[in-house]
Amino acid sequence: MFDRFNRKLNYLRISVTDRCNLRCTYCMPEEGIKLFRHEDILSFDEIAGFTKVAVANGVTKVRLTGGEPLVRKGVTTLVRMISDIKGIDDLSMTTNGTLLKQYAKELRNSGLHRVNISLDTVDPEKFKAVTRLGNINDVFEGINAAKSAGLYPIKINCVIKESKDEEEAKAVTRFCKENDLEIRYIHQMDLVMGHFSVVDGGTGGNCSLCNRLRLTSNGKLKPCLFSNIEFDIRDFGFEEAIKRAAELKPRCGSKNETGAFYNIGG
Ligand code: SAM
Ligand code: SF4
Repeated sequence: MFDRFNRKLNYLRISVTDRCNLRCTYCMPEEGIKLFRHEDILSFDEIAGFTKVAVANGVTKVRLTGGEPLVRKGVTTLVRMISDIKGIDDLSMTTNGTLLKQYAKELRNSGLHRVNISLDTVDPEKFKAVTRLGNINDVFEGINAAKSAGLYPIKINCVIKESKDEEEAKAVTRFCKENDLEIRYIHQMDLVMGHFSVVDGGTGGNCSLCNRLRLTSNGKLKPCLFSNIEFDIRDFGFEEAIKRAAELKPRCGSKNETGAFYNIGG
């Protein structure tokens, strides 16, 4: 499917939960967030059913994100349901990695191809300070588990403030080189203020090449991370929501006051 600026929309990012076991300073307040009501969260059948329609409309690449996707109960069942859909050639997940030790093998067996793992520092104290709740050893063990399970390539998402030459980022760069991991530098963004930027080493942030649609865990289909435009897939129906999102995808976003990273998934 193409939008009115002739961009091919073939990438669907699905936030499967607004919950998270960490509280990264740039993403969530320390006290947590007001969670969606249970009945507002899409069921696995709804997510897989929507994905099927999206694939019939040309989506070939799907990413599961969150919140933290691995805190959603039974998420590997959802991975299996999505990987069973014919036509997806890239099925990935963005995770903070803390629960990968438990799930990596099952995720691979359920048909997940690869993972992006978030890691902004390799210093245990600084990791604790950024994530407020995390233990960096869980992430290191998660990376090893992903490797053993064959979830390749493993990409590391590293949030930076100004540049990849910051001390923390340089240390993560070295860690990635030593451990056969690809690194993506993500500038810290502010959706409400409209501060967005290109992902260094990735494909995000270049509006003229944007191929993405995003589905939130409560069923809003968003054609642009930096826009308030969204279509409720339960209200509009799957096909119509996709059609409208493609028609109204902005040439370039400005700001987003209706969502946050933890419910859109980045
Ligand atoms: N919990 C998972 C994780 O952290 O990887 C998946 C969801 S998280 C919202 C997805 C990505 O968004 C992570 O790589 C995270 O670092 C990034 N992110 C969160 N808040 C951000 C912000 N304000 N600016 C830039 N990236 C952000
Ligand atoms: Fe949770 Fe990911 Fe947000 Fe950190 S960036 S608080 S791990 S959703």
